[in-house]
Amino acid sequence: MEKLLELHSVGYSYHTLQGETPALSNINFTVHRGEFVAVVGPSGCGKTTLLSLLSGLLEPEHGSILLYGQKLFEKGSGTIGYMLQHDHLFEWRTVEQNVLLGPEIQKKLTARKREEVSDMLKTYGLYRFKDARPSQLSGGMRQRAALIRTLALNPELLLLDEPFSALDYQTRLTVGDDIGTIIKKEHKTAVLVTHDLAEAVSLGERVIILTKRPGTIQNIIPIGFPASLSPLERRNAPEFKDYFNQLWKEMNET
Ligand code: ADP
Ligand code: MG
Repeated sequence: MEKLLELHSVGYSYHTLQGETPALSNINFTVHRGEFVAVVGPSGCGKTTLLSLLSGLLEPEHGSILLYGQKLFEKGSGTIGYMLQHDHLFEWRTVEQNVLLGPEIQKKLTARKREEVSDMLKTYGLYRFKDARPSQLSGGMRQRAALIRTLALNPELLLLDEPFSALDYQTRLTVGDDIGTIIKKEHKTAVLVTHDLAEAVSLGERVIILTKRPGTIQNIIPIGFPASLSPLERRNAPEFKDYFNQLWKEMNET
């Protein structure tokens, strides 16, 4: 499998007037093309910092991050899509205008791009809401719109920072299922950070467990469900609780 992302001994500290806060230390892992990696760890352990480094917003203080073998920070982050906890859809734009925002800003809004995005809206059940405002959508539909907006830029790597944590429990299960299925169908590579172990097991092909701050890798657990299972089906599979318990045990050892 082709290596998309490599982290070699990555470390990062925040420097403020109050002093230095080491956030991450000695992080090593590889993400292959098409893989879905989940990262779990306690609150404040450096998960968001890790995604900021992977997106090229922050430069590693120690070590290096390579995207297709080239230093990420120098190469730039044009091929990386970032999806956050809040969907940041603009109320003054329609759903369609929201999902086309990225290509519009980058001056890449061609007829072909419009068609591609329309097709995604159709495939993922939002086409009939294309002229609606974000406030007319359910929480789950908004998150789907936010994902389509991210996909409209055709990113090679998707970074997801606790994207379901603002949703109620019921919705997060179905939206997690939706988003996981879409990412797989579009053959994207994804790194999802979450503090929800069940979410990590339902979506990840590997789960990276971080220790308390400064986050270091405690363990990397391969998750071996049949590829045909959707995230919701995984939750009902007998192995689910074994993986969950394994993660739970690891997390309590950090
Ligand atoms: P997580 O996403 O796992 O909750 P973060 O990556 O947001 O953790 O933060 C890791 C640590 O770094 C925390 O202790 C946090 O307080 C600190 N931190 C995060 N951002 C900043 C910043 N801009 N300046 C100083 N400290 C920060
Ligand atoms: Mg965070």
